[in-house]
Amino acid sequence: MTENPNDQEKALAKLRERELDDQAKADTKRAQLEQAEAHDLAKARAIEQAQHRFRAIKGTRDILPPNSAVWNWFEDTAREVFEAYNFGEIRLPIFEQTELFARSIGLQADAINKEMYSFEDRGSDVIVKRSDGGLIVIEVKESLRLRDNEMRAQLEDLLARVERSSGLAAMAEPVTLRPEATASVARAYIEHNMQALPGNTKLYYMGPMFRRERPQKGRYRQFYQIGAEVLGQSDAPAIDAEVLEMLLVFFNRAGLTRTTLCINSIGDKNCRPQYVELLRQELQRVKDQLGADSQRRIETNPLRVLDSKVPSEQPIIEKLPRISDHLCDDCRAHFAKLKDELNLRGIQYEENWRLVRGLDYYTRTTFEVIAEGLGSQNAVCGGGRYDGLVELLGGPPTKGIGFAIGTDRSILSIEETGNAPAPDGLSVYVAWMGLASYPTAVWITRKLRDAGLTVELPPEEMKFKKSLGLADKLGARYALILGEDEVASRTFTLKRLADAEQKKLTEAELLEYLESERRR
Ligand code: ATP
Ligand code: MG
Repeated sequence: MTENPNDQEKALAKLRERELDDQAKADTKRAQLEQAEAHDLAKARAIEQAQHRFRAIKGTRDILPPNSAVWNWFEDTAREVFEAYNFGEIRLPIFEQTELFARSIGLQADAINKEMYSFEDRGSDVIVKRSDGGLIVIEVKESLRLRDNEMRAQLEDLLARVERSSGLAAMAEPVTLRPEATASVARAYIEHNMQALPGNTKLYYMGPMFRRERPQKGRYRQFYQIGAEVLGQSDAPAIDAEVLEMLLVFFNRAGLTRTTLCINSIGDKNCRPQYVELLRQELQRVKDQLGADSQRRIETNPLRVLDSKVPSEQPIIEKLPRISDHLCDDCRAHFAKLKDELNLRGIQYEENWRLVRGLDYYTRTTFEVIAEGLGSQNAVCGGGRYDGLVELLGGPPTKGIGFAIGTDRSILSIEETGNAPAPDGLSVYVAWMGLASYPTAVWITRKLRDAGLTVELPPEEMKFKKSLGLADKLGARYALILGEDEVASRTFTLKRLADAEQKKLTEAELLEYLESERRR
């Protein structure tokens, strides 16, 4: 039997059709599977994201209420004391040109350089560096860049041509989050021509500083300082003494009572270099007995070896030559006069010949304040003279002295010694009930707040029982009860939560009573 070719073709077509069908089905299935997988993946990702909790970056932290009230009080106290000494507040930028810190803090201060948070600011400024090292700044406004691409292209072309024809290199500006603020104060002093002002320039500042250090108790990557600086033509020891007096008066008023002031003189450019050389020679002789850090510092910064806390190095350091035996006559006289001035002011101090500041710009007076209860991070303030700094930054010859207080550590110490003031807290909780009493509640709340009281007004109606329970939990001293009876009789019921004593008062009586309570 011969097959009909037509039939054969039909069968083949059918087969092909079925194949195609199967493939389509398989494709759909795969697509479905893929979709399901993608869905699962998206779902998994969504779950993961929902579970991901953002946390403050290592070495940074939140200061929350009521603790933040202690911070505010500490800072307010500094303002009060510093202003009594005729210091004015300077508010400085958080970031500056990297060069400012590199030049002032110095390249040899290895720790600081490693510790700095630096980045290239690709934003608005473009620096064109001249081959001789001088700077020409060409400013390209950010708004211009965003709004007008063509203009931007033209400017970039112009820059490229400037570069080509002059051999100058364009680059983004390196900037750094400030690790300290003295350099910024000196920069501002020069920038605003403050040497032309009458008398000494006396400034204080407060705010966050940034150093990439190993975080531990009392050591953070974002920490806070309060500092003061005196800049001018005089380096009279009375200035140093007054700065120290102000510092200690502040610590005393802020409840940092168990502190020790350590002072030293590290000489000036006439006598210190010889001493540093002598120290380096002596250190070379005992090099093998020192640890790696100290060995490195023999070359980079021998003074810093004196700072070492390594136990095995202590007996060696004790035998090293002391700067006090190598001060020039002027420095010796300056230090002696400083001690007279401190005695005159009844300020107690300890001399510590090993107290140095590692930076080149420091001269003569150096000091530190140590507080109790802080373990190894126990320095709450460091400071000293820096007669060369303003000149180093391109300004006129200027004398300077200042200090920086570590706010984080100071507050830790105040809290650990139990000297933090109790927060004022909530005075009055307005327990209102019934919509008719709400307008009176809003209005009396405003009056009490205007009178300086801290008042909480619940935004939604609550039963008295619940309201009073919440007032208790919030630590309110009084609950002001306001229901229909009170509104009808135009009175207020004031309940003292400590002993549940209740008084019915008119508005005038209420204000008078609470005000007298506040003043107590
Ligand atoms: P330390 O020896 O403790 O590192 P320092 O010499 O680096 O101190 P300064 O640069 O003189 O400190 O700063 C003055 C004060 O600032 C210190 O006495 C300290 O109280 C505080 N301080 C410095 N670095 C930190 C930090 N990383 N975290 C918290 N406080 C700090
Ligand atoms: Mg340090």
